[in-house]
Amino acid sequence: MSAQANRVMALSEWEDRWQEGKIGFHKPHVHKLLENNLDKIICGRKSVPLFFPLCGKAVDMKWLADMGHTVVGVEISEKGIKQFFEDQSLAYHEEPVPAIPGAKVFKSTDGKISIYQCDLYKFSSAIAGKFGGIWDRGALVAINPCDRPKYATLLVSLMDSNCRYLVSTLEYNPELYKGPPFFVSEENLNNLFGGACDIELLQCVDGFEDKHKTWGLESMTEKVYLLTPKAQ
Ligand code: SAH
Repeated sequence: MSAQANRVMALSEWEDRWQEGKIGFHKPHVHKLLENNLDKIICGRKSVPLFFPLCGKAVDMKWLADMGHTVVGVEISEKGIKQFFEDQSLAYHEEPVPAIPGAKVFKSTDGKISIYQCDLYKFSSAIAGKFGGIWDRGALVAINPCDRPKYATLLVSLMDSNCRYLVSTLEYNPELYKGPPFFVSEENLNNLFGGACDIELLQCVDGFEDKHKTWGLESMTEKVYLLTPKAQ
């Protein structure tokens, strides 16, 4: 069993991180691996409905909306969602989501970006339809390892038949750091998504940063894969 298999982060711990400003995962710039592989996710299409699981306040959402795509994100932290719209100087309003008790949706006034504030596992294609593209950075690697099968089933159910799902994974020695982010191997990915999707490794980069040293790590590899639904 993997060293990290039993680690569980409660939703309240994520909310605490936002309250305390411990959001080292947030990047102020568009993610390089998304930028490099933009064509793979968009594929020349216009106005693609894009999904961002566990979106935080990723600036990538604004970047893609500015290109004419529509973005739906899911994030538990209301503080994080409000910071997104404020950081990006986007006017927004909030509405209840009748189908998910307790949830709210925050929508930019231009309607291009909607962020659902709820537990991801309460979300489904009944809420905002299916998607033509998915950008998964800090999501598959952030969820509790025991929830991965549930996560994969949900993500596959959100893909339309021509969906292009770009996922970033991290590889490091899981004996040295408890996560999150968690280690996700190619084998993990195949076990989770291989039944429903074709999986192609697009890029592999050295992702080692100073903060990883303080985590006790010596190396960190970031990989980006393209998942596409298998032909029916
Ligand atoms: N993708 C973002 C954020 C990564 S950190 C980025 O790359 O910057 C993971 C985020 O998921 C946190 O903001 C946390 O609050 C949120 N989160 C964790 N578990 C969640 C869940 N089950 N449902 C909704 N949001 C969740």
